[in-house]
Amino acid sequence: MSDLIHRPLWRGYSERSLAAAARHARAGGIAVVRARRWYLLGDAGPAAEPVPLLVDWAIRAVEADAWAEQTDGPARGLVRAPITADWRSRVEEWIARDAKLPGATSEARFDCMKCAACCYDNRVVLDAEDAARFRAGGRADLLERTVVIRGKPTLPLVRDRQKPCVHLHDKLCGIYVVRPNMCRDFPAGTEQCLTSREDFYGTAFPPDR
Ligand code: SF4
Ligand code: SF4
Repeated sequence: MSDLIHRPLWRGYSERSLAAAARHARAGGIAVVRARRWYLLGDAGPAAEPVPLLVDWAIRAVEADAWAEQTDGPARGLVRAPITADWRSRVEEWIARDAKLPGATSEARFDCMKCAACCYDNRVVLDAEDAARFRAGGRADLLERTVVIRGKPTLPLVRDRQKPCVHLHDKLCGIYVVRPNMCRDFPAGTEQCLTSREDFYGTAFPPDR
């Protein structure tokens, strides 16, 4: 079953266009402000609730170590997160990709059952809850097949198109019922999802997926 996702579009702005950047972010997009130190603006969502999922994952996509809600100025009420120099060229690629699309968001369908690109592309680190789920589901054996990377137990999954996660068969997860939290929580339509698809299919929007 495919999911219809309203993906935030990335747009670039100068610091002088902060009001326009804020409008784009309030409409659901991700506004990149090319100030001396670049940053992004996104919708903070309703008060007392977490930042909207796709904004949260946009912040993660640039590996921002912190974000803050703006308390004054044109961007008041929006989330602001830094974009380090390392990420500028990649962010420019996202802005260029989205430039042909109108508006602040774009509808796209994502069918994970026909895709599986992220099963080739992401390192799946296991946590204590995963281990408990494996045991409760009668699959304690899965814990014997992990590899330790930077001190963390990780599914054997290689960044190589010929070697996906060992549990992937015909684009289907062989341990779907007990799959790890990272697999459960990875949202379609994020930059991380699109990057996996680019890496695997050569395009973020392959036909029929
Ligand atoms: S890359 Fe995206 S669309 Fe493909 S399986 Fe993963 S989350 Fe789903
Ligand atoms: S456990 Fe399943 S969902 Fe997770 S990476 Fe492996 S095949 Fe994909």
